[in-house]
Amino acid sequence: MAKERSEVQKEDTWDVTSLYPNLEAWEEDFCALTRGKSESGYWPQIASFQGKLGKSPQELSSLLSEANAIERRLYKLYTYAHLRHDEDVANELYKNVYDRISLLYFDFQNETSWVQPEILQLPDETFKEYLNNAQLKEHRIQLEKLSALKPYTLSSDKEHLLSLARKALETPSKAFSVLNNAELAFEPAKDGKGKEHELTHGSYGFFLQSKDRELRKTSVLNLHKKFNEFENTISELINGQVQNHVFEAKARGYPSALHAALTPHQIDIEVYHNLISTVRENLSTLHQYVSLRKKLLGYDTLHFYDLYVSLVPEFEKEYTYAEGAELVLEAVRPLGDEYHQVLERGLGPERWVDRYENARKRSGAYSSGCYDSIPYILMNFKGTLRDVFTLAHEAGHSVHSHYSNNGQPFQYANYSIFVAEVASTFNEELLFRYLMEKASSHLERCYLLNQKIDDIRATLFRQTQFAEFELKIHTLAEKGVPLTASSLKEIYRKLCQDYYGKDLTPDPEIDVEFLRIPHFYSNFYVYQYATGISASYALVERLLSEGEKAQKEYLKFLSSGSSRYPIDLLEGAGVNMREPKPIHTLIDRFSFLVKEFEKESNAC
Ligand SMILES: [Zn+2]
Repeated sequence: MAKERSEVQKEDTWDVTSLYPNLEAWEEDFCALTRGKSESGYWPQIASFQGKLGKSPQELSSLLSEANAIERRLYKLYTYAHLRHDEDVANELYKNVYDRISLLYFDFQNETSWVQPEILQLPDETFKEYLNNAQLKEHRIQLEKLSALKPYTLSSDKEHLLSLARKALETPSKAFSVLNNAELAFEPAKDGKGKEHELTHGSYGFFLQSKDRELRKTSVLNLHKKFNEFENTISELINGQVQNHVFEAKARGYPSALHAALTPHQIDIEVYHNLISTVRENLSTLHQYVSLRKKLLGYDTLHFYDLYVSLVPEFEKEYTYAEGAELVLEAVRPLGDEYHQVLERGLGPERWVDRYENARKRSGAYSSGCYDSIPYILMNFKGTLRDVFTLAHEAGHSVHSHYSNNGQPFQYANYSIFVAEVASTFNEELLFRYLMEKASSHLERCYLLNQKIDDIRATLFRQTQFAEFELKIHTLAEKGVPLTASSLKEIYRKLCQDYYGKDLTPDPEIDVEFLRIPHFYSNFYVYQYATGISASYALVERLLSEGEKAQKEYLKFLSSGSSRYPIDLLEGAGVNMREPKPIHTLIDRFSFLVKEFEKESNAC
């Protein structure tokens, strides 16, 4: 039985008092922030600027400062509420607090929704003048980023029309979400002894790693069978979503849906194409691994349901939280004393981490916080090696937040999604290398290698396969080619064959895997997992080979938040994501690890 929250030792919990000493203080701040409420909303001072941004740089500067100050306090209130809510999701008191701040944040977004369009509607001349104006100095990068959207901004009546359509255009993704999360139920999976197991999205991932081949097989077949029953409906939803993206891109005058998706995030489309072409040119490395997998499992035919099971006998080693934290701390030594000390305080006396499971605590793990807080980490640490890697991962995010919060003003402290997974996977890689060095048996090394190889496969190769699928179907839609269940299946089948090679026996069930992937409603999102892990490997290699200079530049990158374009920030740390090199570095590493694994597994 998990402990009740009230029974958990204080030193095992995160220190929420760094935000507010108690709920009364939170309530006071909430009241203070909403005190000015009038008929026009919570923040009439924001509304008072509407229609005046073109008058003078002073007006715009005052508005942005005002909006930033409100947002900063909202984040602080929100962070406290969501942390307390996650401690015990059934606690009504904190659920109420969380709901109230979520609504208030929504109101803030509504009340400021006119700001960006009004800035973008400023005449080009005024905009240029503002960019160089001393009064707008602290908002200059904010404005520069917006300037990239200016050529694709329409007249205000057309923008209004687009915004009116937005709710209706959400239908495909909302419909898929309801179907996927609430309405589809799967036939149970069956293990090798004929025993039935409830099949859900949660248990699927778990069964896929089971040593029981029959359980894996029936999980994959039963799950996909259900999606297959709705192949025409779901294909129509995917088509609807793609048509949305194409519509908005065309309406705004972007050359393609890919341009429209990447431009607001300041990413060039070369980054996307470069990822796909580099991975594609090197698919033989993945084929070699698939072939090794088949050999080690000793099967005549290898199927999709054989791709996730560990190739190594169970390696059981347990770690206390303190031992796990110590391993992470030792692993990050190459980042220097300062980094080490920051993290040592965070994992220890500063209490960033909510360490263990308790009754009704939010599951999984995350790093979260705001400009005015320590960078919290939620864990459900049970003592497995996986947990230690998760701690390293979340610690990577949190130290990144620590550095960016300290290095940047509020408006540039939040790092972009494109670079978000760099610091986390960077630390995982350091931990992997450290544990490999320390490993005392073939079995331990095999276990580590196996996990690492499958991580790279899932993050680099699989996400690139998804990215390529997304690009293909958008390109077809742009050419007016209809996207139907059969055409989508054809494209997906071909991609699976290309990526996994001839050693994977194609199962018709897997042709419809794309039907169940929620990310295909997210508009060119998944490629960032692949670019993120590639950038982090390239940076680790650089740190370990070049030492101090690379270390300094990496810490500078961590301190940069979103103060420059993401690609430029990475370039400053020594990795150019427009070029094949960082992707090659990771693929070479993958290839090396597969060879090591083959050698080690002979000795296991
Ligand atoms: Zn992460």
